[in-house]
Amino acid sequence: MRVNENILISSLTTMRLGGPARYVIEIEKPEEIPDAYGFAETYNLPTFVLGGGANTIGHDEGFNGVIIINRIRGIAESTEDDVTTLKVFGGELWDNAVEYAASKSLTGIEGLSKIPGLAAAAPVQNIGAYGQEVSDTLSEIDVYDSVTRVFKTMTHDQLNFGYRRSILNTTEKNRYFVISITLKLKQGEMSRPFYNSLERYITEKGVTDFSPQSIRNIVSQIRADKLPDPLEKASSGSFFKNISLTEEEAEKARDKGYPIHQKKDGYIINSGWLIEQAGLKGELIHGMRVSDKASLILINESAKSYNDLAKARDEIIGKVYDKFGYWLEQEPVEIP
Ligand SMILES: Cc1cc2nc3c(=O)[nH]c(=O)nc-3n(C[C@H](O)[C@H](O)[C@H](O)COP(=O)(O)OP(=O)(O)OC[C@H]3O[C@@H](n4cnc5c(N)ncnc54)[C@H](O)[C@@H]3O)c2cc1C
Repeated sequence: MRVNENILISSLTTMRLGGPARYVIEIEKPEEIPDAYGFAETYNLPTFVLGGGANTIGHDEGFNGVIIINRIRGIAESTEDDVTTLKVFGGELWDNAVEYAASKSLTGIEGLSKIPGLAAAAPVQNIGAYGQEVSDTLSEIDVYDSVTRVFKTMTHDQLNFGYRRSILNTTEKNRYFVISITLKLKQGEMSRPFYNSLERYITEKGVTDFSPQSIRNIVSQIRADKLPDPLEKASSGSFFKNISLTEEEAEKARDKGYPIHQKKDGYIINSGWLIEQAGLKGELIHGMRVSDKASLILINESAKSYNDLAKARDEIIGKVYDKFGYWLEQEPVEIP
């Protein structure tokens, strides 16, 4: 394992904020994981598991603890009957898994193309886009349990997935180190109707090839037009979650003319729409730009500190609440 000292969190996260982490340990083999936790224990320091930092924000004072990062890479494939199993090691870029699957005409994750970050983080908030979520195809994950200090396998059902949620970011937050994730995929293609902007693109361009590779290319194109490239612009992607509503709440919102979308497990109102209607689209607030292409995204244009981000966030939350009575909830995780 590689132990590094005093590494700026701003250099490890796509929002590019945050002071120094006392130690950063990079894991290259599963056997090293207990040693990394043992190291933290020896120095009596807290731990935080980080991936590519695309959904994580650092604080100005840094982190007086040990950040542990999964650098174990590789994809193992096996096929039984018509199901192909991909075991993706957590240090692999998530998008490499999508590219691999699409190149083999395997459907199930092509809508999740180009989501930044590592495979290990995909189940944590149950990444989703264009009508797919990783939980649709994930069968199990291999983890190290930092509490009981054992390696174990957790099944899909044990992870209790929901919209941008699993036990890994709720009840069991910071407990498990994800080593690898296992996906079950089949040859085939997504079927119509596709999710909003994907369906619009397909209709407008008269696309008839719905193969995983074709959908991957289209999703990549839509994303490139709409979303900031983390290498060029600092952001954490969607900064706010969409708002989940009960059937009754959805009915009331519909009566007020708000656009409501039905999901697998309930209803949502798009927080980007609320931000836009609150007149904030394209605004620069304390150095944070509300994207003029997707209002859910905050781009760090000139924020100097976490404090600037927090002020911008709170102002946006306040304005949306004053206008609509909904509280926006932040999506990215904060390093304590
Ligand atoms: C431009 C942009 C677009 C985005 N688009 C989308 C999108 O369409 N859909 C979507 O769902 N998300 C999107 N995101 C958010 C982000 O890409 C995902 O949340 C992604 O899974 C984060 O991966 P990461 O490796 O960077 O995780 P990090 O930010 O490093 O970590 C995220 C969480 O996972 C935990 N974690 C990381 N590695 C491990 C591990 N080995 N074991 C246990 N826990 C771990 C961390 O503790 C943290 O809680 C976007 C982000 C950006 C910047």
